[in-house]
Amino acid sequence: MAITVVGSIAFDSVTTPFGERQRMLGGAAVHFALAASFFEEVRVVGPVGEDFGETELDVMRHRGVDISDIERIPGGRTFFWRGKYGWDLNSRETLDTQLGVFEGFQPKLSESSRASEVLFLANIQPDLQREVRAQLPDARFVALDSMNLWIEAARDSLMKAIAQCHCLILNDSELRQLTGKASLFAAAREVLGWGPRVIVAKQGEYGAALVTADGFFSLPAFPLESVVDPTGAGDTFAGGFVGYIAAHSGEALSDELLRQAMAHGTALASFNVEEFGTQRIEHLSGPEIAARVRQLREFTQFSAAPMPLGN
Ligand code: AMP
Repeated sequence: MAITVVGSIAFDSVTTPFGERQRMLGGAAVHFALAASFFEEVRVVGPVGEDFGETELDVMRHRGVDISDIERIPGGRTFFWRGKYGWDLNSRETLDTQLGVFEGFQPKLSESSRASEVLFLANIQPDLQREVRAQLPDARFVALDSMNLWIEAARDSLMKAIAQCHCLILNDSELRQLTGKASLFAAAREVLGWGPRVIVAKQGEYGAALVTADGFFSLPAFPLESVVDPTGAGDTFAGGFVGYIAAHSGEALSDELLRQAMAHGTALASFNVEEFGTQRIEHLSGPEIAARVRQLREFTQFSAAPMPLGN
């Protein structure tokens, strides 16, 4: 089942302890689309400015991403984000966010983008997420991501957007911020009461947890010796997770399927952080992903070995 995604399409300037890059191709929708393209056809919706070139579009074209709903706004500037990481790659500082062409953008989806049965509302203003959601009223699986900025600046709109989705994918700290609950599990259970059936809490280098009405699952991040740039890991995880679900559209959304989707999201995200920006995913192959999923399975399974325990 094809996937439509709306979210930031960006230039990112990033500093990590391992180097610095200026105005790389980035954005939540871009990282998501490149990852999900290993599973299904992906259609990206969103605006870019005159500064966005063919080189950037080619990165998406080469992965077979449908870019016909990327609208170039005359005289506009592409969304820009600047961030800095210290040695703790789990926390980052946002130094600049310029919405550019996203300010006042009104999405007009083509017939093919409206026909997708899977929708990912990647991180962007919740009003915009809702406008896109309204154009795919019959989508069979809708997932949403957001961030602290929108929880603070547009909480009401974000809560309405979440209520219209099947799945919420959010950083653990943001899930706590959104619900005011200290326990991640309690926070996820609270959001399940708002409408979604599936909650994924992203925990950066510690992995991700899945909560459904009657299930819980957790995976660590894939162990890596070298992490260069974590930017986009969350969106790449979402691309693998949602992509896997879209590719198994004929099956019920069982906890077993969701666990497999978690493994694929985790594997994809681990590649993303090995190089700056989208570089690693640009030269990634399907067999490499499959191998990492197999390794992840070996790392995380253990046998039940009952023994008598003392009191
Ligand atoms: P992640 O590391 O997966 O959380 O996402 C990083 C991506 O999010 C970067 O490529 C940024 O361009 C994008 N981003 C940063 N801030 C925002 C924002 N306020 N709204 C939408 N996208 C953003």
